Amino acid sequence: MRHKLVVANWKMHGNLVENKRLLAEYCAMLPTLKNTDVVVCVPYPYLAQAQAILQHTNIAWGAQNLSKDAVGAYTGEVSATMLKDFGASYVIIGHSERATAYCESDENIATKFVQAQAHGLTPILCVGETLIEREAGVMQMVVGKQLDTIFNTYGAAVFANAVVSYEPIWAIGTGLAASPEQAQSMHEFIRSKVATLDKAAATNMKILYGGSVNPQNAVQLFVMQDIDGGLIGKCSLNAKEFEGICRAAC
Ligand code: PEP
Repeated sequence: MRHKLVVANWKMHGNLVENKRLLAEYCAMLPTLKNTDVVVCVPYPYLAQAQAILQHTNIAWGAQNLSKDAVGAYTGEVSATMLKDFGASYVIIGHSERATAYCESDENIATKFVQAQAHGLTPILCVGETLIEREAGVMQMVVGKQLDTIFNTYGAAVFANAVVSYEPIWAIGTGLAASPEQAQSMHEFIRSKVATLDKAAATNMKILYGGSVNPQNAVQLFVMQDIDGGLIGKCSLNAKEFEGICRAAC
């Protein structure tokens, strides 16, 4: 059975004082969590702080983006090796808030995915459809195309040590989560798509659900067969709520 994984995405929130308090609260809940891995993805400037506070705990940390290039004249970019310097082990890739605001192409996202893996980081690849696409009934086609860019260039085996997060764009930060059935149906589609190319990768890979998860709806979402945990935005900024979500995954 796959271990559950709950990932906090702090987005562009926090400061040194607030983070210290929130991470201490995260650490306090740890001893009571069983069978759930917890990761917190912080803004770049706070990676050193996350490392200092979390390094002897079971909570891992990561970033919310990385450069598709390894090194060079790329002003403002942060490379995989720089993330590793601060002990990061995960990185979110292709989050819709970035893909939309910074026009990230599927090709760029695919390059970031393998760049992360090449440097020992676990990529958390975000995929998902807009409301218009869901209403038009083309959500599987949209998500399938997002995955195909990676399959076509790098094959399916790369998914064995990766995390995919299904994040319907209409559910992110709206308070309107996908129903457990809607999410399960997409998760099953993602896993079976990978399975047609690589059965072992499909069995190993974790597929998270993200989009307005809270301690209440997490219970129903996380019991679904192909939902291996969650990517949590807003509720990860409140330790009590985040704990409730982590408990739902146990
Ligand atoms: C997210 O940022 O990936 C997310 C799912 O946010 P929220 O939980 O706030 O919807």
